[in-house]
Amino acid sequence: MQEQIVIVGGGAGGLELATMLGRKLGRSKQAKVTLIDRNSTHLWKPLLHEVASGALDSRLAELDYRGQSARAGFQFMIGTLESVNNHQKTIQLAAIRDAQGREVLAARSLSYDRLILAIGGVTADFGTPGVKEHSYFLDSLRQADEFHEHLLNEFLRVDQSIEDGNETTLSLAIVGGGATGVELAAELIHSVSLLSIYGLSYLDQKHFKVCLVEAGERLLPALPERLSTSVEKKLKSLGVEVILDNPVTQVQENTLVLSEGKPVQANLIVWAAGVRAPDVTKGWGLKIRKNNQIEVNDYLQSVSDTSIYAIGDCAACRIDDERWVPPRAQSAHQMAECLYRNIVRGYRQQPAKPFVYKDRGSLVSLSRFSAVGNLMQSKSLSMSVEGTMARWAYASLYRMHQRALHGWWKMFLLLMVDRLNHVVKPRLKLH
Ligand SMILES: Cc1cc2nc3c(=O)[nH]c(=O)nc-3n(C[C@H](O)[C@H](O)[C@H](O)COP(=O)(O)OP(=O)(O)OC[C@H]3O[C@@H](n4cnc5c(N)ncnc54)[C@H](O)[C@@H]3O)c2cc1C
Repeated sequence: MQEQIVIVGGGAGGLELATMLGRKLGRSKQAKVTLIDRNSTHLWKPLLHEVASGALDSRLAELDYRGQSARAGFQFMIGTLESVNNHQKTIQLAAIRDAQGREVLAARSLSYDRLILAIGGVTADFGTPGVKEHSYFLDSLRQADEFHEHLLNEFLRVDQSIEDGNETTLSLAIVGGGATGVELAAELIHSVSLLSIYGLSYLDQKHFKVCLVEAGERLLPALPERLSTSVEKKLKSLGVEVILDNPVTQVQENTLVLSEGKPVQANLIVWAAGVRAPDVTKGWGLKIRKNNQIEVNDYLQSVSDTSIYAIGDCAACRIDDERWVPPRAQSAHQMAECLYRNIVRGYRQQPAKPFVYKDRGSLVSLSRFSAVGNLMQSKSLSMSVEGTMARWAYASLYRMHQRALHGWWKMFLLLMVDRLNHVVKPRLKLH
């Protein structure tokens, strides 16, 4: 009997794993590999801040799951995972409804021999009142698109208002001085610098304010202090107001209440502070951490059930007694690779090898202005990079994801397509 391998979540980790397993075991019919995602297309999550600012047209970077499944030898099913029954080894998917609420597909149940959960993470609001009601999140393409649409409307409104003779400004507040917050701030400044090319010539840097608020003492705590300071300086030179060491205690409509000092007023608020796994993991009878991440052992199996695995942002995997694998694309990639190798080893009657996280460093893009990061050669040897070299290294992360999905040759073709699009398409998506 063919083994039923079910992977839920086609993101940075899940889609790479489904592709590798499909090629190795699905095509040769040694196993039936099924990927389930709530969406029909995949967009690499670290691109979402570019979609939000308009720097990237998501339609040019999305990948169709069904197309990928046909090429790589796995099966794709659209659906949202609601519950896991680990006694019966089944999962339940919610009914699919159209925009009018009519049922397209009834709720379904699916059996598995091995279940791999790769459903990613969502932004944590740490119980701060008003966050959900009054802020945007960048956890999904839909949210990035919604923000983008609102941003465009604000661009139009403020540009017209200035043309009509009113001294108006458009202000944005971003909560969270980690990679997402810093990258979004820089992308937004870049987008506004391009507006005049496309006919919105009144709204310029003078009329655009970005405020970045961080609860900790410095931006980008995962990077060496020298790089945090350099990023802070760069953002300030671009006109971004940086508020440090001042947690947000409440979000009201167009206002951030801080633990100290004056509230921050903003037309748009983005909350980009912290990551947790989705609430749905709470109801599956698996051991989870406070942030809902599923606790896994060295082989990425749930500590409560060895036929269930978790990888990427939804997994809590220890590095040592004090540290956990960070929620990053490189972690999801490494976990997918380790699990793939172990599953294939199992088919060859070879023992599995434990997952060992290799920190390759962190890179943060400051849009077209710069990039910074540290590249880790080994535990004790790291190299700080800034400017062009860091931008190349940052861009290579996405290319490595494309290589895992398509191979070197197609990755190279996609790089060429992106270069051509850069020449023939507008540099800013204004629709
Ligand atoms: C704006 C932004 C910038 C980032 N920049 C970087 C960066 O520069 N470098 C870096 O290393 N990391 C970065 N990250 C973090 C990185 O994107 C994540 O760590 C990585 O995507 C995690 O991969 P994953 O496979 O665990 O989950 P994801 O890539 O989030 O994929 C999860 C998938 O599961 C699906 N899903 C979720 N719930 C369900 C359900 N119930 N049923 C069915 N499907 C479901 C989703 O549709 C999605 O396709 C960034 C994140 C954001 C938001």
